[in-house]
Amino acid sequence: MTVLGGFLGSGKTTWLRHQLHEGVFKGAFVIVNEAAETPVDDALLQGSSNLAVLAGGCACCVGKEDLIALLHKICDDRSKQTEHRLERIVLETSGLADPGPIVEAIRTDPILVHHIIVSETLVMVDALHALSQLRSEPLGRKQIEIADCMMVSKIDDANPDDLARLLATLHVVNPGAQIFGTVKGTEVPLPDFSQAEPEHLAEVLNEVDLPPIFPSKLALDETIDWTSFSVWLSALLHSRGNDIVRVKGVVRTPAGRLLVQTVRKVVQSPEILPEQESREDNTIVVIGRGYREEDLARSLKYFAGAS
Ligand SMILES: [Zn+2]
Repeated sequence: MTVLGGFLGSGKTTWLRHQLHEGVFKGAFVIVNEAAETPVDDALLQGSSNLAVLAGGCACCVGKEDLIALLHKICDDRSKQTEHRLERIVLETSGLADPGPIVEAIRTDPILVHHIIVSETLVMVDALHALSQLRSEPLGRKQIEIADCMMVSKIDDANPDDLARLLATLHVVNPGAQIFGTVKGTEVPLPDFSQAEPEHLAEVLNEVDLPPIFPSKLALDETIDWTSFSVWLSALLHSRGNDIVRVKGVVRTPAGRLLVQTVRKVVQSPEILPEQESREDNTIVVIGRGYREEDLARSLKYFAGAS
């Protein structure tokens, strides 16, 4: 099994989609875990014949039993196969997951331990946001610490000095891991960072300082006006950008189905998805902390309902 981890919005799906397209995990069983209920990534990973989406619970904690049950089933089915036996599972964890407990759960399961070897834990690292995540998010640090291999995404958008500093810091936090650079899923060479000064991270992050981040699912009205929605989203990020870690969802617009994603205060350019009926359309998931779900829903209603 390959475990693919990384913070929210670090580019895990982009990377995985590219690898599948290139045939890297040919024949693999792909499991995508989403902490929120909306399996948006499902639409993006089609083309993989063996795909399961585990939605509604992060597999390192509340969704762990579901993951273990699914893995039992995969192993069961495999033992019935006589030819073309499944050789690899790729697990894309939710951005809220610490891969550590997932790997431990597999290793300590009396059945799975005989069937599954976790061969590598790959962790995507966001070149633009990872330094601040390392400073402030215990989870960001845990993900880096457990990686066998760190893949630094979006390095074409990063400031060269910041990138060198991030690479030097990653090397200090997890000296044993390999580091690669990627741009839109393709491996690219990393700059030399041997002269860069690593960030001095606090010895221990005080986890009680920050309330945990949580997902909220918001249904948009059928008649949602795209402009009002965009105004609401920018206002939200502008005022609460440090609390809102991630926004993701599919919005139906006259131009088609738009995949909307933000990472911290960065809004990624909306991507038009293939036309298909999905009951998850016009649903967005907001992941963050420091607010109440009711207040978030009320503010959206106020803005988008006012059109
Ligand atoms: Zn978890």
